[in-house]
Amino acid sequence: MEQRDLLRKIPKMDDIWTKIEAKEELKEFNESMAKNELRDVLQNLRTDILQGHADTFNEMRLLDDSIVNEVLFQCQKLASMQLRKVINGTGVVLHTNLGRAPLGDYVKDALWDIAKGYSNLEMDLDTGKRGSRYSHMKELLLKLTGAEDAIVVNNNAGAVLLTLSAITKGKEVIISRGELVEIGGSFRVPEVMEQSGATLVEVGATNKTHLRDYEKAITPETGALLKVHQSNFKIMGFTQEANMEELVKLAEKNDLPMINDLGSGLFLSLQPFGFPPEPTVQEAVAAGCDVVTFSGDKLLGGAQAGIIAGKKKWIQQIAKHPLTRALRVDKLTLCALEATLKLYLNPEEALVKIPALRMMTEKPDALEVRAEQLIYMLKPALLNNKTLSLSVVTETSQVGGGAYPTVQLESRLIRFEGEPQAVTKLERFLRQHQPAIIGRIQDNGYMLDLRTLFEDDFETIVKAIEGWTKLSAV
Ligand SMILES: *Cc1c(COP(=O)(O)O)cnc(C)c1O
Repeated sequence: MEQRDLLRKIPKMDDIWTKIEAKEELKEFNESMAKNELRDVLQNLRTDILQGHADTFNEMRLLDDSIVNEVLFQCQKLASMQLRKVINGTGVVLHTNLGRAPLGDYVKDALWDIAKGYSNLEMDLDTGKRGSRYSHMKELLLKLTGAEDAIVVNNNAGAVLLTLSAITKGKEVIISRGELVEIGGSFRVPEVMEQSGATLVEVGATNKTHLRDYEKAITPETGALLKVHQSNFKIMGFTQEANMEELVKLAEKNDLPMINDLGSGLFLSLQPFGFPPEPTVQEAVAAGCDVVTFSGDKLLGGAQAGIIAGKKKWIQQIAKHPLTRALRVDKLTLCALEATLKLYLNPEEALVKIPALRMMTEKPDALEVRAEQLIYMLKPALLNNKTLSLSVVTETSQVGGGAYPTVQLESRLIRFEGEPQAVTKLERFLRQHQPAIIGRIQDNGYMLDLRTLFEDDFETIVKAIEGWTKLSAV
């Protein structure tokens, strides 16, 4: 059809509005919002006809019913939360796309209490004078890490940028070529360095950097030595890096600060659970690093934040920098983080109560029991479903969030097996379900990893599969 004929077929606003007004669903929405949506829908049709190829334009879109449904759909979308709960069946514990660390029940009351009213965020209740938002968890952080001082900002990328800006602006910063990492979301060490106003001095080779490489690079222009955790990758084979203790000594000898970006913020060693050695925050502080930075929502298992801990002299210099204000954390983050950190006062409690730690350390036997339980609950829903069979399989899950990139945790998954088409459709159906269920497809099977599933969600998964069975029966 010709472009102008299509344009002429767009219904009049008033005619369509009468039809929308007659709909029962409209009562749920605000009228002026619905009118705005109608205007947008009609405008989009006009734009699509004008910009697109008239011959490929789907004329069905011009039907009154299509337009009415589209308007109601858009209203529904506007009225419902777009940021919403997802059930993580991927087995990736710190899944960056799914919000990294889940928080435990322990934050619930504290968080709502602070959220719904006023708090002593910046008031010292002892003196009645202005206080600091950074003071609330400082004592706790110092106790847990052994540092002299600490401050919390928006995230670890911000913590690194702020630290370099405050301490090394206009100076040279020495770092190993093996540590010029990209974390994702365009956080690249060389670019952050440039942004901070410091000059990058790379030393060593990708696989090997010796202490003497740092030593040779020190000049009167040097502002700091920087160590960055490789986080999301591992170099294997013929490798060497200068260790923290050596670097601290070298920095001290030259009267320079040693900055250590730890990335994940591990507070207790996971070696007893079979994980490879990783420096904990306490070890980095004890080794004498002047400043250590780490995330709040990676291995620490709390809210998104960047924690900077270290020697008083440097932390105070950092706190005074204008970027600190631009990167400041809000009361909800501080509250969730403080509630999480408190659990670390008793490491055994932290291991069972902090969901990320509990998931990472859950044993295959326990996962198996939960897998069998879920299958038992799902059986009735699949009784009349001839397209899918269900079983428990052994696969591996990952920590995610750029932590322990080479670790494969033995896990148990439930596996739906069927025709490739049915499996693909099931994946999409569950992803678009409310709440969304995210699993993975592998060798014609759809799998949900028990490591990251909460028992509270089993009922929802069963209901979703019941829905799927009904849908695929017709
Ligand atoms: C993850 C990570 C960052 C970025 O931390 P965010 O909290 O995601 O901003 C920076 N450095 C290292 C080494 C990391 O692993």
